[in-house]
Amino acid sequence: MHGHFGDQHWWPGESPLEVLIGAVLTQNTAWSNVATAIRRLKAQGLLHAGRLHAAGPAGIAPHIRSAGYFNVKARRLWNLLDWFVHGYQASFDRLETIPTPRLRQELLAVSGIGPETADSILLYALHRGIFVIDAYTRRVLTRHHLAATDASYAQLQQLMTRHLPADTALFNEYHAQIVMVGKHFCKPAPRCADCPLRVYLPSVARDLKPGAPLHRDRAYTSAGHGEPSGAKPRPSRALRLRQSRVICRRG
Ligand code: SF4
Repeated sequence: MHGHFGDQHWWPGESPLEVLIGAVLTQNTAWSNVATAIRRLKAQGLLHAGRLHAAGPAGIAPHIRSAGYFNVKARRLWNLLDWFVHGYQASFDRLETIPTPRLRQELLAVSGIGPETADSILLYALHRGIFVIDAYTRRVLTRHHLAATDASYAQLQQLMTRHLPADTALFNEYHAQIVMVGKHFCKPAPRCADCPLRVYLPSVARDLKPGAPLHRDRAYTSAGHGEPSGAKPRPSRALRLRQSRVICRRG
């Protein structure tokens, strides 16, 4: 993935506060819409935790319309700021002193903050070694038969962290690369033939011998193989070992 896309330099934000705001606004929308909202907040002098909190949900909502569901997101963002302002005096230095499990628990206790948002904040704003799972990660893992379609967020996260070195920079880049794969190739109708992860498809990896040419007709296509089900037979140990390299390999 890295060889195909290059460094992603995530998260696209100039400060931890921007990352925190972006993590809430990016739910169910494209990043370009979030960037518009953040630019607007900045133009209004509201890229400041105390001022944004003081504006209240009603004062935030008009500035984040571009991100969609703006009333819901304004409330969620304000809830998060309320926790940050009252619990930590809006200081990222204070957050730095809190152990990751406790921080994660506190973030998940904020109304409207789910695991993906909490983990995005932990990884990209606070540089904690937490792997973020999103819909793209789920899709890639299930299409490669590395996880069942009904696996929970926690199970997918454990799968990734169990097979990767505990390296925050790696987690940062790995998630960003998966998002690129999802955006460009692993769409609802997958474009396997051109995807950098194609060689790790079970149907390709199973028959791939060193030096053997790739068989383009074995690519995983929506028309050919469809989504894997959770009831598939357990793959052989040799195949599982090969599949684990998908997880372990960076790039
Ligand atoms: S090879 Fe196909 S199934 Fe695998 S990540 Fe790429 S598009 Fe998705």
